[in-house]
Amino acid sequence: MNSDLELKNIADAVSVCNKCQLHHSREKGVPGEGPPNAEIMFIGEGPGFHENMQGRPFVGAAGDLLVELLAGIGMKREQVFITNVVKCRPPGNRDPQPEELQACAPYLEKQLQIIHPKVVVTLGRYSMARFIPNAKISEIHGQAVRVKGMLVVPFFHPAAALHRPSLRTTVEEDFAKLPELIKNAQQAPAYEPETQVEDDNHAEQLSLF
Ligand code: URA
Ligand code: SF4
Repeated sequence: MNSDLELKNIADAVSVCNKCQLHHSREKGVPGEGPPNAEIMFIGEGPGFHENMQGRPFVGAAGDLLVELLAGIGMKREQVFITNVVKCRPPGNRDPQPEELQACAPYLEKQLQIIHPKVVVTLGRYSMARFIPNAKISEIHGQAVRVKGMLVVPFFHPAAALHRPSLRTTVEEDFAKLPELIKNAQQAPAYEPETQVEDDNHAEQLSLF
């Protein structure tokens, strides 16, 4: 099966998924979008109001900032794959719950397998925790590590910079590092998870497909 079709199958599955309670607040599923051969994947938290209405990721205020930050490094949103750790909107934009993150994980896992990005940029804590558990974003933002053959770079969520203007410069500085990080993707230090428990979970979840 080609990658376009595989991604479309995920989008179709998300639009009717009821594996967690977030399907109750779903207007449209937000599977993510971008070219199947994207070198970079941005992973946010979950759809907000506008994303839920349009079925597209990062189309509200945080999305406008993301586009602006990408433009600052000479990139367009059409060049990258953009998605979230949960594909349906948490009511009132609350944080996703552990059971929702777990239920939704196989979709992201599959997208990572299909797209196989050179670099994964996590936006915010929940997305970072998916790759680098127990880390503090304030301590490791902008620093690349290798996780299972992918270069993972944790960034603050753009919405954080909207709420705390003092973060704006930090966020811009992190983005400015991205072109160089992509170029040197092979040289980052490896991140060693403390246990293999997560791997087992993922293997189990993948078997759902
Ligand atoms: N914030 C996110 O984390 N994801 C979106 O898709 C939009 C806003
Ligand atoms: Fe399914 Fe994910 Fe939506 Fe939950 S958030 S209903 S697991 S697609």
